[in-house]
Amino acid sequence: MPLPYDTTIGLEIHVQLKTASKMFCRCSNDSEGVQPNTLICPICVGHPGTLPVINEQAITMGARMALAIECTINPQSKFDRKNYFYPDLPKGYQISQYDQPLGIGGHIDIEVPAPEGQRTSAHIRFNRLHMEEDAAKLMHDGADSLVDYNRGGTPLMEIVTEPDIRSPLEAKTFLQELRLIARYLGVSDADMEKGHLRCDANVSVQLDQNGVRVTTPISEIKNLNSFKAVESALIYEAERLYQDYIAGGETQTRKNKITVGWDEQKGVTIMQRGKEEAHDYRYFPEPDLPPLHFSHEDIDALRASLPELPAHRRERFQTEYTISKADAHILVDDKALAEFFEKSASELAEWMSTDGVLSADSQTKSYQLLANWLLNRFVAILNDKKIPLVDTKVTPENFAQLIARIAEKKINSSSAQEVLGIMIDTGADTDQIIKEKGLEQVSDEGLIKELCEKVINANEKVVADIKAGKENALMFLVGQVMKESKGTAQPEMVKEILKGILSK
Ligand SMILES: [Zn+2]
Repeated sequence: MPLPYDTTIGLEIHVQLKTASKMFCRCSNDSEGVQPNTLICPICVGHPGTLPVINEQAITMGARMALAIECTINPQSKFDRKNYFYPDLPKGYQISQYDQPLGIGGHIDIEVPAPEGQRTSAHIRFNRLHMEEDAAKLMHDGADSLVDYNRGGTPLMEIVTEPDIRSPLEAKTFLQELRLIARYLGVSDADMEKGHLRCDANVSVQLDQNGVRVTTPISEIKNLNSFKAVESALIYEAERLYQDYIAGGETQTRKNKITVGWDEQKGVTIMQRGKEEAHDYRYFPEPDLPPLHFSHEDIDALRASLPELPAHRRERFQTEYTISKADAHILVDDKALAEFFEKSASELAEWMSTDGVLSADSQTKSYQLLANWLLNRFVAILNDKKIPLVDTKVTPENFAQLIARIAEKKINSSSAQEVLGIMIDTGADTDQIIKEKGLEQVSDEGLIKELCEKVINANEKVVADIKAGKENALMFLVGQVMKESKGTAQPEMVKEILKGILSK
């Protein structure tokens, strides 16, 4: 059922960059599993008199991301001090970018798995992308509050969208696409559960009241740290704003944005107090850092260094390999899987051109066969055995060989499944396994006919049933012949030959 209101959402996303060192000092940026307060130096804990130095790798990563989402890189950008007091910020200010960010504008287009009646594609514009350092991490342990400064000074990109998002599902889908772009670029693992990607969401709802279009004030939901939380919190808050408005609550008169948090356990938003109340950050230019300059040549070189991005790859997989749209999505959403597919596809083309037994049409169809076997069988077995794709013993070349043998009908599907299992366990060669196990499909008509006659003679009752009209019983005979052939006969061929003999 459509909602009685429209939803308007804008997001502010912080992405932690995968640099070797921190934003303005040489401390390691890899604090996973490290003791608190061991990756620190006078610069990142803000001792007076220390001088920050810009991490070039972080700026390059930020600029690559900016270009990937079609931002315009400012020829000159600069850093500013954002002043506020909080225990996680020992300098008393955060180094960020204010009026001259690294990138401005930009957009991405996403496909939304929305139900009927809602839009299934969205064009989401960006306002800006700027660089900054992260604050330290506060941990609350009973009555104690602890600070881990390891995170202080971590390079971040803050990406701000325009309010172009129209539903909580769109917000989630958009974030997943942004994460994928960051992963394709290799600038961040963008793992929300690990805090690499954090999101604040601004939401308001629009409704008709006495024939007039009205809008509620904005709620800002802070620190959403999973895709599920983004979607659930937005669904909840939009509905709350609507209900409050029609009931004549505070949303009727409130002028300012409020800040709320999301209580995952209770499934509700909660009014927040704290540093967000201090609105005046008194930004001023950071005197210790030079401005950043980008020439046309710099920007062209960065653009040339971008890899193929997910949206383009999805389209290309569908046109180049004629695989289904759904499969192209599943493959591309996992970079390693997409690369395994692509390598296997190119090997498959090679096998088929060498073997030369398939028509061009069958060759084209074999890419879909490859996608089916990769997604439905290979990945399923790997998941069962808890083997990550990157650790598998099966090379794309061997996998392609397996698919070629299926496409050429050298082995049938159940034999192929057996071969695949052995390949995963041992890393052995497809043809070698087929030979050793005697799995090559029998298409010798004379031999199969012999087996069919043997089975017919041994199953008089079943034959009588079939002749009496019980056609299903034929499959029993097919099964028996397959068994006699040790699984190497072509089931379709067996069926036809049986029918032929029985119709006489
Ligand atoms: Zn440091």
